[in-house]
Order: sequence, then structure tokens, then C-alpha cells
Amino acid sequence: MSSKRALITGITGQDGAYLAQLLLNKGYEVAGVVRRSSHAGVFDHRLKWLGIADQVTLFDGNLIDLSSLARIVQDVQPDEIYNLAAQSFVTASWQQPILTGQVTGIGAVNLLECMRTLRPDARYYQASSSEMFGLIQEQVQSETTPFYPRSPYGVAKLYAHWMTINYRESFGLHASNGILFNHESPLRGVEFVTRKVTDGVARIKLGLAKELRLGNIDAKRDWGHAKDYVRAMWMMLQQDVPDDYVIATGRTVTVRDMCEIAFKHVGLSSGDHLIIDEKLFRPAEVEVLLGNPAKAEASFGWKTEISLESLIQEMVDADLARLKSRA
Ligand code: NDP
Ligand code: GDP
Repeated sequence: MSSKRALITGITGQDGAYLAQLLLNKGYEVAGVVRRSSHAGVFDHRLKWLGIADQVTLFDGNLIDLSSLARIVQDVQPDEIYNLAAQSFVTASWQQPILTGQVTGIGAVNLLECMRTLRPDARYYQASSSEMFGLIQEQVQSETTPFYPRSPYGVAKLYAHWMTINYRESFGLHASNGILFNHESPLRGVEFVTRKVTDGVARIKLGLAKELRLGNIDAKRDWGHAKDYVRAMWMMLQQDVPDDYVIATGRTVTVRDMCEIAFKHVGLSSGDHLIIDEKLFRPAEVEVLLGNPAKAEASFGWKTEISLESLIQEMVDADLARLKSRA
């Protein structure tokens, strides 16, 4: 067993929680950055759901507050730093473009600066995103595909991505970008389309709602399971040489077909409940994403293990259980 120390920003989010679980199982000491909230007791609900809230050490801090990050890096002395914190919702990035730039873009540089000055031998993971491909320049996107972000979120992520490469090249830091395509789980935020659908389907099944309102259901995404994807983050940092990797399933499906999987799982049909709401369309859309994970597979043997069907069924079942436990 290892006794390495990991520091995770965004530990209260979907990926942070699953990554913390993975690293604890590998014998790591896990520390996380949490931003102060007046809602004491709910900020760590994902860690509680996984039963690991009392096994991680949490530090108050904020990605846009360099002083807090410096203090935390100084205290924790991490061997591995995973930067997962972000304003991560594309729609919100048009409503709060400056905050998105500060947190999702500059925030990464704050953390890289702390690592460069205080812990230069640590290894750094940056949560880059397939949203950077945006208006796709190649049918299947890989590490060599040119970027064309379509939202303030995508632009902010691209800045953080290039700064990670720049710090690697300028200062010799072990800093890697994981260009992760969409990944979901029962711990996904309910504003994202998969979870909105599985929560909505569960509500309809239980008689708590009649309809599900969505925007562009012709959009296509390459969806995987967050559990598979956090494994890739860890694998990247175990490589001797830092690099950038696409993590994806290699299969793309429309929002419409993903919905049908969810409805079918509970014996319903999407046609009876789905309503298209123009207000949910985006100012600029990413119509299709499809990733090629061949480099990750060849370099360290990463492969997706959980199918979209199993993922969506697991999410629907979890939402049914959640709603029933509240009744
Ligand atoms: P979540 O939205 O679930 O989690 C985001 C995390 O960032 C939360 O812990 C949140 O804290 C934290 N956070 C937000 N703002 C700040 C801040 N100013 N200071 C400190 N912490 C902050 O995202 P995911 O877990 O789904 O994604 C993890 C990362 O991977 C993100 O960077 C995301 O953009 C990126 N990514 C995700 C993909 C996906 O499909 N899930 C695909 C590609 C990239 P709080 O709990 O307080 O809100
Ligand atoms: P994204 O790829 O990071 O933006 O992840 P989302 O889950 O938020 O959105 C995936 C796709 O689903 C996008 O193309 C959206 O336009 C589309 N979509 C359609 N209806 C909705 C909806 O009601 N909510 C969200 N979040 N996305 C929707």
C-alpha cells in the first residue's frame, strides 16, 4: 500500500468524490479544498453518499484565492494535485462569464503557481474538457484535433489547458491534462442533461411529475461513467513523463436516444412525456462530440468498462431510491 498524499480541488463535486474514494482504496492520504458555504451539512453530501466523508481531510479555500491555496499546499505537502474545481456548467458560463474565467481559467494558474513555488516535485492533473473541441474540426476528436470552444466555459478550460502545458514546458513541472469527454453517475449535478433526465424519469414513474422539458435533444455526446474516468486521472499521474490524453468511450449518442434508455428502463416511453422547450436551447451549441481514447489505451491500458445503458439504468435506479426515501 502507498502512503502518498493527494490534494483534490473540487472534492465535493462528482469526480472529486469518486477520485477520493479511488485514492483512499489505494492507501493515499486524501485532502480536499472546500469553499465555505452557509449550508453546513450539505456541502459534503457526495462524500457521505460514498461513505468516505470522515476519511478525508477538508481545508477551507477557494480557487480564486491564491493565499488560501498556498496555505493548503504548504500544510498538505501533496505528492499529487488534482485540479477538479471549476464553474463546470456550460449554461451558467454565459450568465457568469467573468466568474467562469476566474475560477475555471485563472484558478488553475493559481494552483500551478502554488505548486511551482512550494511543491515543484509534485504531480499535477488538470481537468480539461471535450468542450474545448466545441465546433468540431474533425469527426473524431483526439489529442491532435484543433480546438474551437463554443462557450465561456470552453474558452476558460482552454486557457487552463494551455497554461498547464506552458508550466510543464517552462518549469519542467509534471503537469498533465486529461481531456475528458462527458462522464456521469448518480452523483452528477441535476442541472446536467443525463441526471436531469434520470431524475425526471424517476419522478414521472413515481407520479411526482408528468413531463420532462428539454432543449436540443439532437445534440450528441460521448458519455462514460465517472468511476471509469477518475481511474484514468490517477493512471495519468503514474506515468514517468507528463502528457495530455483524451478520455472517451468512442461512441456518440443523441440526447433523444439517451432519454429513451431511461424511460424504457421503467417501462415508459419518452414520446408520452418529453416536451421541447426553446428556452433551454443554448446561444451557441456543441452539436456533437466523439472522442478517440487510443493514446490512453496504448500508453497505460485505460479502457472504459461501463456501458451507457448500464450507466443510465444505475442513475435511474439511484434517483428512484432517493425519491422513495424522501416520501
Ligand atoms: P462538479 O460541478 O460536480 O464539481 C465542481 C467542483 O468545483 C465542486 O466541488 C465545487 O464546489 C468546486 N468549485 C467550484 N467553484 C470553486 C471555487 N471557486 N473554489 C473551489 N472550489 C470550487 O464537476 P465534476 O465533478 O463533474 O467535474 C470535475 C472537473 O472536471 C470540473 O473541472 C469539470 O469542469 C471537468 N470536466 C467534467 C466533465 C464531466 O462530464 N463531468 C467533462 C470534462 C471536464 P461546490 O461543491 O462548493 O460547488
Ligand atoms: P455539456 O456537454 O457539458 O454541456 O453537458 P450537459 O449535460 O449540460 O449538456 C449536454 C447536451 O445536452 C448539450 O448539447 C445540451 O444542449 C443538451 N441538452 C438538451 N436539453 C438540455 C437540458 O435541459 N439541460 C442540459 N443541461 N442540457 C440539455
